[in-house]
Amino acid sequence: MVRENLFAVEQNIIKVCKQSNRDPKEVTLIAVSKTKPREMIEEAILCGKKEFGENKAQEMKEKCDALPKELKWHFIGHLQTNKVKYVVGRAFLIHSVDSYHLAEAIEAESAKKDVISHILIEVNVAQEETKFGLKPEETLALIEKIAKLKHIRIEGLMTIAPFVENPEENRSVFRKLKELSVDIAGKNIDNVSMSVLSMGMTNDYEVAVEEGATHVRVGTGIFGERDYSKK
Ligand SMILES: *Cc1c(COP(=O)(O)O)cnc(C)c1O
Repeated sequence: MVRENLFAVEQNIIKVCKQSNRDPKEVTLIAVSKTKPREMIEEAILCGKKEFGENKAQEMKEKCDALPKELKWHFIGHLQTNKVKYVVGRAFLIHSVDSYHLAEAIEAESAKKDVISHILIEVNVAQEETKFGLKPEETLALIEKIAKLKHIRIEGLMTIAPFVENPEENRSVFRKLKELSVDIAGKNIDNVSMSVLSMGMTNDYEVAVEEGATHVRVGTGIFGERDYSKK
């Protein structure tokens, strides 16, 4: 099942890229494997998939340590400072930095392990109260502050769009994140790149690609529905 689903999502991304005059190589599909067993990840690896997304620090650590070293792990969940130690040194990209306090913890752990941590700033574009992430208007100031930390590189922005019936409803959210990233890129801040735009999930990744996503995070569409009951 993973093979067929993965292939279908990849083909969709190629199709949408062609329709919107984008090079499919500009779009990375992150297979969101949270709650899913190693066997399913291994099936995706057999299909050539190397980039996976997890939202719990310990779960990412366990999977990262048990699976082949060449995989790239994207940490996409809310990160508590006391869990930073599991993620720094393992995550290829941390998508969910939304406070200076968290950035400082990542900086300290990165310095300790002598690594550079690559991060995205999470923006709550839709301003939903239940979601983490910064207000769009707070984003630049936080980036300017984090940019001074020596063991952190800001690579771009991430957003989690609202759950909607019709993905078209999220088009304006994706467009706003893109506009924000272009504005910030225009400031040419030292140590800051705006090359990554992480947006779009199973229900709306096609619209996100049309609006400029460089990374889409697809879980259900590849691995099937998640079952949170048996834990
Ligand atoms: C779970 C999750 C996804 C994947 O969601 P699906 O709807 O299953 O594709 C993407 N991004 C984040 C931040 C998530 O937590």
